Amino acid sequence: MKNSEALFQRLESSAPLTGAELSAVLALEDPCDLDRLFRLAYEVKTRNVGRLVHFRGLVEVGNVCAKDCLYCGIRKSNCNVRRYSMPREEILSLVDAARKARFGSVVLQGGERSDPAFVDEIETILREIRRRSDGALGVTLSLGEQSGDTLLRWREAGATRYLLRVETTSPELYAKIHPAGMTLADRIAALKRIQDAGYQTGTGVMIGLPGQTLRNLVDDLLFFRDFDVDMIGMGPYLPHPDTPLTQANPGFPPDSERQLLLGLKMIAACRLLIPDANIASTTALHALAPDGRERGLLAGANVVMPNLDDPKYKREYNLYAGKPNLDDGMEECLSSLVARIADIGESVAWGAPGDPLHFYSRIARSR
Ligand code: SAH
Repeated sequence: MKNSEALFQRLESSAPLTGAELSAVLALEDPCDLDRLFRLAYEVKTRNVGRLVHFRGLVEVGNVCAKDCLYCGIRKSNCNVRRYSMPREEILSLVDAARKARFGSVVLQGGERSDPAFVDEIETILREIRRRSDGALGVTLSLGEQSGDTLLRWREAGATRYLLRVETTSPELYAKIHPAGMTLADRIAALKRIQDAGYQTGTGVMIGLPGQTLRNLVDDLLFFRDFDVDMIGMGPYLPHPDTPLTQANPGFPPDSERQLLLGLKMIAACRLLIPDANIASTTALHALAPDGRERGLLAGANVVMPNLDDPKYKREYNLYAGKPNLDDGMEECLSSLVARIADIGESVAWGAPGDPLHFYSRIARSR
């Protein structure tokens, strides 16, 4: 019997997964085993959330950032970035275009700012989105660590979901990839404030960081389960030439196909662990391979976040090298993506807000 046969029998039995089993999943290398893993995760996805892809229109509202994360291209100390804050009218017109294109939801993402002018501006934009859409559009925020007060204001103004990646759940690795003063404990406390403010709560990690072990990744997966998150957005770590983490690790990662496969294995493991979560197939997968996002969907993801920005902003919101489709506007990006999704036998859930089913099961359990 093949070594992996016993593992697959456990996975196929739908028994709760142990850390040791998750570790064995992430260690799979044989192409036939990987194929079997992705098929199994795809089957679990189909059974729980259908063969539907939920689109979230991504608007990168600004790259001004108060933080100095050692891996991120828009970190505060990177002087090579041309900073922008997208004007309110441009944000609203992208959101209008998303509604016209029958998107059921949008994501406003940006560098971290907590100054009163910014907090007020986001609140105004959220109210206007709600007014224009009659509250029918799902709105996700991804604007970093915020106070409970700010989170409540934005929630009341119409945001229903919030994404804040913990980046890694290893305190040591977290400290290595962030400047002094940023801690994992603070990041997790910020995520808890999001959950407590009543948001559909999303988190995630970077996969394949320098110094990250498979054990770290298993702990990340167990954290997602134990924190009871509704949405997961993870992606491979990709170097950015202007960052200290890249400069300290020349030539890393050595093999981009391996980096991509590790990302796909994490998606599959996550789907097996939390069958009713919304799991994103992220842009970083697309940066590693032209069909990276479709492969993510086939490994168990059910959400894609097409970028809506005008190319003039897209270029400046550069978290890592190799961001795809820099010269394309929304229409070009969308038509090829929709065709690719149809090619793999999935369809876009046009118009549906696409709330994570896990959110409702979590709320029902807490009653
Ligand atoms: N300011 C927001 C949004 C950050 S950008 C926040 O703090 O949550 C969104 C995500 O991009 C980050 O959470 C991080 O996981 C990812 N990212 C940043 N630099 C990256 C890199 N070099 N490679 C891969 N992902 C990166």
